[in-house]
Amino acid sequence: MKFLDFHCDTIGECYLQSKSLSQNDLHIDLQRVSAFSVYGQLFAVWIPDEKRGESAFSYYCAVRDRFYREIAKNSSRIMQCFSKDDLQSAFSQKKAAAVLTVEGGSVLGGDLERLDTLYRDGVRLMTLTWNGSNAIGNGCFAENKGGLTDFGKAVVRKMQCLHMLVDVSHLNERGFFDVAEYTDKPFLASHSNAKIVKNPYAEARNLSGAQIQVLTERDGLIGLNFCADFLGNDGNTGMDAVLRHITHFLDLGAEKNLAFGGDFDGCTVHPLLNGIENIPLLFDYLLQHGIAESVLEDIFFQNGYRFLIANL
Ligand SMILES: [Zn+2]
Repeated sequence: MKFLDFHCDTIGECYLQSKSLSQNDLHIDLQRVSAFSVYGQLFAVWIPDEKRGESAFSYYCAVRDRFYREIAKNSSRIMQCFSKDDLQSAFSQKKAAAVLTVEGGSVLGGDLERLDTLYRDGVRLMTLTWNGSNAIGNGCFAENKGGLTDFGKAVVRKMQCLHMLVDVSHLNERGFFDVAEYTDKPFLASHSNAKIVKNPYAEARNLSGAQIQVLTERDGLIGLNFCADFLGNDGNTGMDAVLRHITHFLDLGAEKNLAFGGDFDGCTVHPLLNGIENIPLLFDYLLQHGIAESVLEDIFFQNGYRFLIANL
Protein backbone atom coordinates (compact mmCIF):
# COMPACT_ATOMS: atom_id res chain seq x y z
CA MET A 1 0.00 0.00 0.00
CA LYS A 2 0.94 3.64 -0.45
CA PHE A 3 1.38 5.92 2.56
CA LEU A 4 2.30 9.58 2.84
CA ASP A 5 2.52 11.27 6.23
CA PHE A 6 2.96 14.98 6.91
CA HIS A 7 4.40 15.06 10.42
CA CYS A 8 6.63 12.98 12.64
CA ASP A 9 9.26 13.77 15.28
CA THR A 10 11.34 10.69 14.57
CA ILE A 11 14.50 12.49 13.47
CA GLY A 12 14.52 14.62 16.63
CA GLU A 13 14.22 11.45 18.73
CA CYS A 14 17.01 9.77 16.73
CA TYR A 15 19.14 12.79 17.65
CA LEU A 16 18.12 13.04 21.32
CA GLN A 17 18.21 9.29 22.03
CA SER A 18 21.14 8.43 19.73
CA LYS A 19 19.05 5.99 17.70
CA SER A 20 19.36 5.00 14.08
CA LEU A 21 16.67 5.61 11.49
CA SER A 22 17.48 2.25 9.93
CA GLN A 23 16.19 0.19 12.84
CA ASN A 24 15.02 1.34 16.26
CA ASP A 25 12.34 0.97 18.94
CA LEU A 26 10.69 4.29 18.05
CA HIS A 27 7.45 4.65 16.04
CA ILE A 28 9.19 4.77 12.65
CA ASP A 29 12.22 3.05 11.16
CA LEU A 30 13.23 2.14 7.62
CA GLN A 31 12.98 -1.58 8.29
CA ARG A 32 9.26 -1.28 9.02
CA VAL A 33 8.41 1.20 6.26
CA SER A 34 9.78 -1.21 3.65
CA ALA A 35 6.35 -2.89 3.91
CA PHE A 36 4.84 0.02 1.92
CA SER A 37 4.97 -0.07 -1.89
CA VAL A 38 5.30 3.74 -1.83
CA TYR A 39 6.17 5.81 1.25
CA GLY A 40 6.71 9.50 1.75
CA GLN A 41 7.42 11.16 5.09
CA LEU A 42 7.81 14.75 6.14
CA PHE A 43 10.41 14.74 8.94
CA ALA A 44 10.06 17.64 11.36
CA VAL A 45 12.78 19.32 13.36
CA TRP A 46 10.77 20.37 16.41
CA ILE A 47 12.00 23.50 18.17
CA PRO A 48 10.94 23.43 21.85
CA ASP A 49 9.39 26.66 23.17
CA GLU A 50 12.27 27.02 25.66
CA LYS A 51 14.64 27.61 22.75
CA ARG A 52 14.73 31.06 21.20
CA GLY A 53 17.25 33.12 19.26
CA GLU A 54 20.59 31.44 18.53
CA SER A 55 19.82 28.43 20.72
CA ALA A 56 16.76 27.67 18.54
CA PHE A 57 18.82 27.91 15.35
CA SER A 58 21.76 25.87 16.65
CA TYR A 59 19.37 23.15 17.84
CA TYR A 60 17.79 23.12 14.37
CA CYS A 61 21.26 22.76 12.78
CA ALA A 62 22.15 19.82 15.04
CA VAL A 63 18.94 17.88 14.25
CA ARG A 64 19.14 18.81 10.55
CA ASP A 65 22.68 17.40 10.41
CA ARG A 66 21.47 14.22 12.04
CA PHE A 67 18.78 14.00 9.32
CA TYR A 68 21.46 14.42 6.61
CA ARG A 69 23.62 11.71 8.20
CA GLU A 70 20.74 9.23 8.43
CA ILE A 71 19.80 9.88 4.79
CA ALA A 72 23.43 9.42 3.70
CA LYS A 73 23.87 6.20 5.69
CA ASN A 74 20.69 4.73 4.21
CA SER A 75 20.85 6.14 0.70
CA SER A 76 19.80 2.87 -0.93
CA ARG A 77 16.45 3.07 0.91
CA ILE A 78 15.62 6.73 1.42
CA MET A 79 16.16 9.97 -0.47
CA GLN A 80 15.83 13.60 0.62
CA CYS A 81 13.42 15.42 -1.70
CA PHE A 82 13.86 19.09 -2.55
CA SER A 83 11.26 19.24 -5.34
CA LYS A 84 8.27 17.48 -6.85
CA ASP A 85 10.64 15.90 -9.39
CA ASP A 86 12.64 14.44 -6.49
CA LEU A 87 9.45 12.94 -5.04
CA GLN A 88 8.65 11.26 -8.33
CA SER A 89 12.25 10.09 -8.66
CA ALA A 90 12.31 8.59 -5.15
CA PHE A 91 9.07 6.73 -5.74
CA SER A 92 10.18 5.39 -9.13
CA GLN A 93 13.39 4.10 -7.50
CA LYS A 94 11.31 2.43 -4.75
CA LYS A 95 12.95 4.59 -2.10
CA ALA A 96 11.25 6.33 0.80
CA ALA A 97 10.80 10.03 -0.02
CA ALA A 98 11.92 12.25 2.86
CA VAL A 99 11.09 15.94 3.12
CA LEU A 100 12.71 18.08 5.82
CA THR A 101 10.40 20.42 7.77
CA VAL A 102 10.65 22.66 10.84
CA GLU A 103 8.06 22.78 13.60
CA GLY A 104 8.40 26.22 15.19
CA GLY A 105 9.09 29.52 13.42
CA SER A 106 11.30 30.54 16.34
CA VAL A 107 14.06 28.96 14.23
CA LEU A 108 14.14 32.23 12.26
CA GLY A 109 15.10 34.30 15.30
CA GLY A 110 13.09 37.16 13.80
CA ASP A 111 15.31 37.20 10.67
CA LEU A 112 13.42 36.90 7.39
CA GLU A 113 16.58 36.04 5.43
CA ARG A 114 17.00 32.89 7.45
CA LEU A 115 14.13 31.45 5.38
CA ASP A 116 16.57 31.36 2.45
CA THR A 117 19.00 29.30 4.54
CA LEU A 118 16.24 26.87 5.49
CA TYR A 119 15.15 26.60 1.88
CA ARG A 120 18.71 25.78 0.78
CA ASP A 121 18.83 23.12 3.48
CA GLY A 122 15.78 21.51 1.89
CA VAL A 123 13.13 22.68 4.36
CA ARG A 124 9.87 22.66 2.41
CA LEU A 125 7.36 23.20 5.23
CA MET A 126 7.47 25.31 8.36
CA THR A 127 4.95 25.10 11.19
CA LEU A 128 4.64 28.77 12.15
CA THR A 129 4.49 28.27 15.92
CA TRP A 130 4.55 25.53 18.48
CA ASN A 131 2.26 25.95 21.51
CA GLY A 132 3.71 29.24 22.76
CA SER A 133 4.42 32.64 21.23
CA ASN A 134 7.24 33.61 18.91
CA ALA A 135 8.15 36.49 16.59
CA ILE A 136 5.63 35.25 14.00
CA GLY A 137 2.55 34.79 16.15
CA ASN A 138 1.00 32.85 19.00
CA GLY A 139 0.39 29.16 19.52
CA CYS A 140 -2.89 27.69 20.67
CA PHE A 141 -1.77 27.53 24.33
CA ALA A 142 -0.19 31.00 24.46
CA GLU A 143 -1.62 33.67 26.78
CA ASN A 144 -1.44 36.20 23.94
CA LYS A 145 -4.55 35.60 21.82
CA GLY A 146 -3.43 38.00 19.07
CA GLY A 147 -2.86 37.13 15.45
CA LEU A 148 0.22 37.24 13.25
CA THR A 149 2.75 40.01 13.85
CA ASP A 150 3.91 42.20 10.96
CA PHE A 151 6.98 39.96 10.82
CA GLY A 152 4.68 36.91 10.70
CA LYS A 153 2.76 38.36 7.77
CA ALA A 154 6.05 38.95 5.91
CA VAL A 155 7.15 35.38 6.73
CA VAL A 156 4.05 33.71 5.28
CA ARG A 157 4.26 35.85 2.12
CA LYS A 158 7.92 34.99 1.63
CA MET A 159 7.32 31.30 2.34
CA GLN A 160 4.71 31.16 -0.41
CA CYS A 161 7.09 32.95 -2.84
CA LEU A 162 9.72 30.30 -2.04
CA HIS A 163 7.19 27.45 -2.41
CA MET A 164 7.68 26.52 1.23
CA LEU A 165 4.45 25.14 2.72
CA VAL A 166 2.80 27.26 5.42
CA ASP A 167 1.68 25.02 8.29
CA VAL A 168 -0.93 26.29 10.78
CA SER A 169 -0.97 23.32 13.16
CA HIS A 170 -0.47 24.61 16.75
CA LEU A 171 -1.30 28.20 15.69
CA ASN A 172 -4.10 30.02 17.53
CA GLU A 173 -7.37 30.93 15.80
CA ARG A 174 -6.60 34.59 15.13
CA GLY A 175 -3.32 33.57 13.57
CA PHE A 176 -5.06 30.96 11.43
CA PHE A 177 -7.45 33.50 9.95
CA ASP A 178 -4.58 35.96 9.43
CA VAL A 179 -2.77 33.29 7.41
CA ALA A 180 -5.92 32.84 5.33
CA GLU A 181 -5.99 36.61 4.74
CA TYR A 182 -2.30 37.21 4.02
CA THR A 183 -1.69 34.24 1.72
CA ASP A 184 -3.14 33.52 -1.68
CA LYS A 185 -1.89 29.96 -2.22
CA PRO A 186 -3.08 26.86 -0.35
CA PHE A 187 -1.75 26.18 3.15
CA LEU A 188 -2.11 23.22 5.49
CA ALA A 189 -2.58 21.97 9.02
CA SER A 190 -0.02 19.16 8.94
CA HIS A 191 -1.13 17.39 12.13
CA SER A 192 -4.48 18.62 13.45
CA ASN A 193 -7.79 16.95 14.30
CA ALA A 194 -11.33 18.33 14.57
CA LYS A 195 -12.96 20.00 17.59
CA ILE A 196 -15.14 16.98 18.36
CA VAL A 197 -13.13 15.91 21.42
CA LYS A 198 -13.94 17.26 24.88
CA ASN A 199 -10.75 17.86 26.83
CA PRO A 200 -8.81 21.11 27.35
CA TYR A 201 -5.92 20.06 25.07
CA ALA A 202 -8.12 19.04 22.15
CA GLU A 203 -10.39 22.06 22.56
CA ALA A 204 -7.41 24.39 22.18
CA ARG A 205 -5.46 22.44 19.58
CA ASN A 206 -8.02 20.89 17.21
CA LEU A 207 -9.61 22.68 14.23
CA SER A 208 -13.06 24.28 14.34
CA GLY A 209 -15.67 23.77 11.63
CA ALA A 210 -14.94 27.29 10.31
CA GLN A 211 -11.22 26.51 10.04
CA ILE A 212 -11.92 23.21 8.25
CA GLN A 213 -14.21 25.08 5.85
CA VAL A 214 -11.43 27.56 4.98
CA LEU A 215 -8.93 24.75 4.42
CA THR A 216 -11.30 22.87 2.11
CA GLU A 217 -12.36 25.99 0.17
CA ARG A 218 -8.72 27.02 -0.31
CA ASP A 219 -7.55 23.56 -1.57
CA GLY A 220 -5.65 23.13 1.69
CA LEU A 221 -4.72 19.95 3.48
CA ILE A 222 -5.40 18.52 6.94
CA GLY A 223 -3.21 15.75 8.37
CA LEU A 224 -4.97 13.55 10.94
CA ASN A 225 -3.03 13.29 14.20
CA PHE A 226 -2.83 10.02 16.21
CA CYS A 227 -2.04 11.82 19.50
CA ALA A 228 -4.39 10.24 22.07
CA ASP A 229 -5.40 13.55 23.70
CA PHE A 230 -6.47 15.01 20.35
CA LEU A 231 -8.30 11.90 19.09
CA GLY A 232 -10.59 11.07 21.98
CA ASN A 233 -11.23 10.55 25.68
CA ASP A 234 -11.26 7.74 28.26
CA GLY A 235 -9.12 5.39 26.21
CA ASN A 236 -11.32 5.73 23.12
CA THR A 237 -8.31 6.89 21.18
CA GLY A 238 -7.64 3.97 18.85
CA MET A 239 -8.83 3.07 15.38
CA ASP A 240 -12.47 3.81 16.25
CA ALA A 241 -11.47 7.39 17.10
CA VAL A 242 -9.69 7.74 13.75
CA LEU A 243 -12.84 6.43 12.04
CA ARG A 244 -14.95 8.97 13.94
CA HIS A 245 -12.68 11.80 12.80
CA ILE A 246 -12.61 10.69 9.19
CA THR A 247 -16.40 10.40 9.13
CA HIS A 248 -16.66 13.92 10.58
CA PHE A 249 -14.24 15.39 8.01
CA LEU A 250 -16.06 13.61 5.17
CA ASP A 251 -19.37 15.04 6.42
CA LEU A 252 -17.77 18.51 6.17
CA GLY A 253 -16.76 17.91 2.55
CA ALA A 254 -13.02 17.47 3.22
CA GLU A 255 -12.74 14.23 1.24
CA LYS A 256 -10.04 15.65 -1.06
CA ASN A 257 -8.30 17.60 1.71
CA LEU A 258 -7.65 14.88 4.24
CA ALA A 259 -4.32 13.12 4.81
CA PHE A 260 -2.26 11.95 7.79
CA GLY A 261 0.18 13.78 10.03
CA GLY A 262 0.34 11.05 12.62
CA ASP A 263 2.77 12.79 15.00
CA PHE A 264 4.69 9.56 15.45
CA ASP A 265 7.51 9.89 17.99
CA GLY A 266 6.02 13.20 19.11
CA CYS A 267 3.22 12.05 21.39
CA THR A 268 1.51 9.26 23.27
CA VAL A 269 -0.73 7.11 21.07
CA HIS A 270 -3.12 4.21 21.64
CA PRO A 271 -1.44 0.76 21.63
CA LEU A 272 -3.24 -0.21 18.40
CA LEU A 273 -1.71 2.79 16.61
CA ASN A 274 1.64 2.65 18.37
CA GLY A 275 4.02 2.56 15.40
CA ILE A 276 4.01 2.78 11.64
CA GLU A 277 3.64 -1.00 11.31
CA ASN A 278 -0.02 -0.50 12.32
CA ILE A 279 -0.90 1.69 9.32
CA PRO A 280 -1.94 -1.24 7.05
CA LEU A 281 -4.11 -2.57 9.90
CA LEU A 282 -5.74 0.86 10.21
CA PHE A 283 -6.47 0.87 6.47
CA ASP A 284 -8.15 -2.55 6.76
CA TYR A 285 -10.12 -1.47 9.84
CA LEU A 286 -11.46 1.64 8.09
CA LEU A 287 -12.31 -0.37 4.97
CA GLN A 288 -14.24 -2.89 7.08
CA HIS A 289 -16.10 -0.05 8.77
CA GLY A 290 -17.57 1.44 5.65
CA ILE A 291 -15.03 3.91 4.25
CA ALA A 292 -14.70 3.28 0.50
CA GLU A 293 -11.36 1.98 -0.73
CA SER A 294 -10.96 4.89 -3.19
CA VAL A 295 -11.53 7.39 -0.35
CA LEU A 296 -8.97 5.60 1.82
CA GLU A 297 -6.42 5.64 -1.01
CA ASP A 298 -6.97 9.39 -1.24
CA ILE A 299 -6.50 9.90 2.50
CA PHE A 300 -3.52 7.57 2.91
CA PHE A 301 -1.66 8.90 -0.11
CA GLN A 302 -3.23 10.64 -3.10
CA ASN A 303 -4.58 13.81 -1.44
CA GLY A 304 -1.24 14.58 0.15
CA TYR A 305 0.72 13.73 -2.98
CA ARG A 306 -1.50 15.95 -5.09
CA PHE A 307 -1.03 18.77 -2.57
CA LEU A 308 2.76 18.45 -2.67
CA ILE A 309 2.87 18.32 -6.48
CA ALA A 310 0.64 21.41 -6.68
CA ASN A 311 2.49 23.46 -4.09
CA LEU A 312 6.18 22.55 -3.97
ZN1 LIG B 1 3.21 19.20 16.86
